[in-house]
Amino acid sequence: MDLDIASVLSHAGDGQFEKALRNQNSVPEVLPVYMTSVFAFDDVQSVDDIYEGAAEGYVYSRMRHPNHDALAVSLSKAEGGENALVFSSGMAAIIMSILSVVSTGDHIVSSPVLYGGVRDYLENELKRFGVSVTFVDFSDPHAVEEAIRPNTRLVYTETISNPLMAVPDVPAIAEIAHQRGSLFFIDNTFASPIVMRPLLHGADLVLYSATKYLGGHSDLVGGAAIGSAKLIAAIQKKLTLYGATLGAAESWLLARSLRTLELRVTRQSENALKMAEFLESHASVERVYYPGLVSNRDHATSQKLFRNGLYGGMLSVDIKGGEAAATAVVNHLGFIKYVPSLAGTATSVSYPAKTSHRAYSKEELKKAGISLGQLRFSAGIERAEDIIKQLDEALGSI
Ligand SMILES: *Cc1c(COP(=O)(O)O)cnc(C)c1O
Repeated sequence: MDLDIASVLSHAGDGQFEKALRNQNSVPEVLPVYMTSVFAFDDVQSVDDIYEGAAEGYVYSRMRHPNHDALAVSLSKAEGGENALVFSSGMAAIIMSILSVVSTGDHIVSSPVLYGGVRDYLENELKRFGVSVTFVDFSDPHAVEEAIRPNTRLVYTETISNPLMAVPDVPAIAEIAHQRGSLFFIDNTFASPIVMRPLLHGADLVLYSATKYLGGHSDLVGGAAIGSAKLIAAIQKKLTLYGATLGAAESWLLARSLRTLELRVTRQSENALKMAEFLESHASVERVYYPGLVSNRDHATSQKLFRNGLYGGMLSVDIKGGEAAATAVVNHLGFIKYVPSLAGTATSVSYPAKTSHRAYSKEELKKAGISLGQLRFSAGIERAEDIIKQLDEALGSI
């Protein structure tokens, strides 16, 4: 048919050209960004076949899209899972996953030391839907066992807690949860699969804020969930329904980041250990919290669970002299910037009592072991010697 210029141009760059590309011998070295909200079909049967599972194909990008699925394949393999999903944020990944397994009348056992948004969700939001939560100390698996009730559907915690870097005995907790007929989800954001793969230690689902190590460049917000095919299928229904999909462009960026995850986290962990050792020996430091230190309470547990002698890039310190001393250190850290997030390539510092745990009262802070002299560091990939020199200079300013 002879088309008018308006009709010709209105199809510029549409996906029909892809049919020609698919018959070529070459493929792009890197998966392109599938910046399309929807997919086109030549006939009715083709769509029917996809919905019926008789053919492979995409329909609408809120459900699934190629850049999402490429990430899912890599993440499942990296974690030793059957399938994975990627979300618009870590909070979306966590909430969609919890919503897919609990209903009114169910109960959750969790730790009082959680990422702030998750704690708020469990404590205040789920209550509105008749789901109750008991918070217990996960450093004691016995306490977790005691808190489980007949209606407990889910046990939920984090691999490395914030900001004290406590590491629970994951296999022991998984066993307790399963014996009592409960699922066990774990937020592995602080560890990443380079440091720990919780599915191999009994967890049913691994959750991530991909904004942190998986993304790793402080330039995207995303989340991920990895587990059995059955669990992931249930969560996918919620992802599609609530529209918590990560867009194609950000998915592409995340795939780009995953290629260097092992290099980054290895260097970050090595740097964090050197920082922890330096800080532990410094006269102005009261205490260092890092599972890689031999002096750390959870060192033996971490050694058993963590991979390749790595303990992650996150550490905290109590500075002698409280708020005034901690403030002086932050203000003299030069290239180490005050950033209320973590896991970028640049070493950064955060002040838990004034950022992530700002909503806590004085008593709550004390109970959680968070002091006004406490700083949290996220090790970057710089030369360790430069970081140590900068830390030494800042501590000298007190
Ligand atoms: C940042 C973070 C989250 C929330 O993730 P977002 O990507 O900010 O939604 C959840 N858990 C942990 C441990 C985090 O650090």
